[in-house]
Amino acid sequence: MYQFWVSICFPKSYHSNLNRDNTLMVKQQNNDNNLHHVVIVGGGFGGLYAAQKLGKAPVKVTLIDKRNFHVFQPLLYQVATGGLSPADISSPLRALLSKNKNTEVLMGEVTQIDPERQTVKMRYREIKYDSLILATGVTQKYFNNNWEEKAPGLKTIENAIEIRRRVFIAFESAEKEPNPERRKDWLTFVLVGGGPAGVELAGALAELAHGTLKEDFRNIETSEAKIILLQGPQYILPAYPPHLSLKAQKSLEKLGVTVKTGVRVTDITGQLVTYRDGDTLEQIRTRTVLWTAGMKASPVANMLADCAEAQLDKAGRVIVEPDFHLAKYNNIFVIGDLAHYPDGKGAILPGIAPVAMQEGEYVARLICKRLQKRPLKPFKYVDWGNLAVIGKHQAVVDMGWLKLSGFLAWFVWLFIHVFYLLEFDNKLIVMIQWAWSYFTESKGARLITTPGKDPEIELEDDHETIIYQAASVQASNVS
Ligand SMILES: Cc1cc2nc3c(=O)[nH]c(=O)nc-3n(C[C@H](O)[C@H](O)[C@H](O)COP(=O)(O)OP(=O)(O)OC[C@H]3O[C@@H](n4cnc5c(N)ncnc54)[C@H](O)[C@@H]3O)c2cc1C
Repeated sequence: MYQFWVSICFPKSYHSNLNRDNTLMVKQQNNDNNLHHVVIVGGGFGGLYAAQKLGKAPVKVTLIDKRNFHVFQPLLYQVATGGLSPADISSPLRALLSKNKNTEVLMGEVTQIDPERQTVKMRYREIKYDSLILATGVTQKYFNNNWEEKAPGLKTIENAIEIRRRVFIAFESAEKEPNPERRKDWLTFVLVGGGPAGVELAGALAELAHGTLKEDFRNIETSEAKIILLQGPQYILPAYPPHLSLKAQKSLEKLGVTVKTGVRVTDITGQLVTYRDGDTLEQIRTRTVLWTAGMKASPVANMLADCAEAQLDKAGRVIVEPDFHLAKYNNIFVIGDLAHYPDGKGAILPGIAPVAMQEGEYVARLICKRLQKRPLKPFKYVDWGNLAVIGKHQAVVDMGWLKLSGFLAWFVWLFIHVFYLLEFDNKLIVMIQWAWSYFTESKGARLITTPGKDPEIELEDDHETIIYQAASVQASNVS
């Protein structure tokens, strides 16, 4: 049936590109079809940097991503708390790569890889490659629990918009809620996971509730909102030395965040979070739970395990050879968060942006060197250290030789983020907006928007009608 409609709708030449399984072979736009064809899957930090590096190389490049934009993930927490708009931290992939005339961008999700035929498949498209770079990153991990709906994570722009929706609905609902207990539930925010994303989000939520929103409501004191951060290990920010983790915890507590470490969440319902603290089970009544606890490799890793005998680690990441290729196929490279790459000191390289960028650039260079039949020095990661922001003017920085916390660390964090944002077309506007929101505490993007969802009905489960009493307000003198 599908073939019948295709034969009517598409011209013959297009139709003749159909494979037996109804897949369209994408006709390459580039004129020189003899050029080595590099297909990159994923336009995050790893894929984008690989594509940019190949922009002037004598190859043709196809970058495929299921979204048509690149996201600056380190600032997702700002979108989730209304400090920045989604477009401020995203940039269209086409625009970012428009100057690279050897590069095409295709929007689509890769669902299959055939290493023998050297093809990747999107829904009804199949593309041949000579070299394949996979940089599809990671997704949230809920440790076999079905909590995705109850506790959204912070990994994509869509996640950040959903968190923003839930956070601002919580304040709106509390404002209308006459029952003090239920009002408290709306004003309690629980975050699960005290890594960098959890810490940044908790700090920003505390500033929002205890600062930005203070004057905006009539029936509630937003400063009474409780922000509780639950962390499994003994320290938050476990990748940092313990003394910096403790400083970060103190900074969070100063902002009004309650931090509980060494606890394990055992259940999440619409109104309750249950966690184990030693031998006791504790419960928190809340309407808003946010998940920043774990990551697992994107489904592309399992595809590679099936089709290319790739070995996966416990987190599902692909174990790669020293040059980032697969043991069985040396023209398939895996980079960024998706890759398991030893750091030479007994651990693996962390899932952070600089690792993905450097790996992307290295693999791009390696492909060019191979074409020239010249060797390339082994990959060496240049470690610029770890940074996490805790709130306005507070951060922790661990550069090995330099360990900082407080304002100076925040300044370093700011400088580095500005530097990376230079990739973006709208950098100046973002910086001005960002600086404005930092120094004035205004968060202009406090919008509740999610098409197709009725925010009120969806989150407020008891539908009995309550007679609303307007707040008593102070009348201003009219002169
Ligand atoms: C909230 C948050 C805060 C962070 N903060 C920091 C920070 O402060 N500093 C830092 O260094 N790092 C930070 N990171 C980590 C950093 O963002 C990642 O390490 C980095 O993005 C990894 O790059 P990547 O290219 O491997 O994957 P990603 O950047 O995640 O890109 C993966 C891309 O692949 C696409 N994709 C996935 N599957 C498919 C498919 N099947 N077909 C087509 N396309 C697909 C996705 O749409 C996405 O564009 C943060 C991450 C998060 C989530």
